Amino acid sequence: MAKSEKVIDLEDLPGVGPAIAEKLREAGYDSIELIAVSSPAELSAVADIGEATALKIITAARKLANLGGFESGEVIFQRRREIGKITTGSNALDTLLGGGIETQSITEFFGEFGSGKTQICHQLAVNVQLPRDKGGLEGSVIVIDTEKTFRPERIIQMAEARGLDGKEVLKNIYVAHAYNSNHQMLLVDNAKELAQKLAKEGKPPVRLLIVDSLTSHFRAEYVGRGALADRQQKLNRHLHDLMRFGEIFNAAVVVTNQVMAKPDTFYGDPTRPIGGHIVAHTATYRVYLRKGKGELRVARLIDSPHLPEAEVVFKITERGIEDK
Ligand code: ATP
Ligand code: MG
Repeated sequence: MAKSEKVIDLEDLPGVGPAIAEKLREAGYDSIELIAVSSPAELSAVADIGEATALKIITAARKLANLGGFESGEVIFQRRREIGKITTGSNALDTLLGGGIETQSITEFFGEFGSGKTQICHQLAVNVQLPRDKGGLEGSVIVIDTEKTFRPERIIQMAEARGLDGKEVLKNIYVAHAYNSNHQMLLVDNAKELAQKLAKEGKPPVRLLIVDSLTSHFRAEYVGRGALADRQQKLNRHLHDLMRFGEIFNAAVVVTNQVMAKPDTFYGDPTRPIGGHIVAHTATYRVYLRKGKGELRVARLIDSPHLPEAEVVFKITERGIEDK
């Protein structure tokens, strides 16, 4: 966990014991942030407390929640010094990304079916466990799997190709299936709890959080023009939660997003990923993947603020992600 911040429980607020905390959680006030933006009147009603007490709790929550997002430059500097990188398995792809997948950032892989998004996720789940001199972070990984495409057999195959014990590698991969978009969002909270628990138990720290796919549930559930604003708002909140996770735990966040590759639609740019500009503005690195001949794949870095837009070729083999 980054030294600069710890996850705060409701019970850490002065005046909030287990009973009040439970009432607040039941009413949906399950985070310091939500309490910080609530009014004394509403809080006093849901938690059955006086308004003066409610005000005291809200004031404390505002201090802790760091609302407004102001942090000292020193805190940011310290946190950025802890940024780590995970190798993708391909030097070319690592170079494209400025040295690998970065912690405290969101990296989005988007592309059509079979372009390699899920394969890259599997490879990263193995590689994050490697020692630092081999491109890993000696960390564990949490996978939010929305399409049931996680394959332990594939992990074993990739791990053994790198001289690791496949079964040991699987022990540090924690997978949950998200059955709808709300569940998917909730799993980020569960991921926080799991990451804290692993830290307490002295297990390898979570250095990678994967959401594969970020958008499939949202796409399926929010159909039609009228639903667009809702969908974007929820995706925005989800991405914000993911970003916080990455910062708090110094973890890389990797998300996937399927797009159609066939330019036979009437709807403008066919490669435009769902989630559109909201994902674009939140993801720090966006990589467009497309199929090449056979096992070859082409990766292009899209509108990164500090890296040139460039393209590289890599391949997907039985061993995993490799240079061509
Ligand atoms: P979708 O949008 O459908 O989720 P995706 O981008 O996640 O697609 P992947 O599942 O990552 O696509 O890629 C599948 C491709 O990876 C296969 O078509 C194959 O080319 C390659 N692949 C998968 N497993 C192996 C393996 N064991 N050995 C070699 N290549 C493999
Ligand atoms: Mg996939």
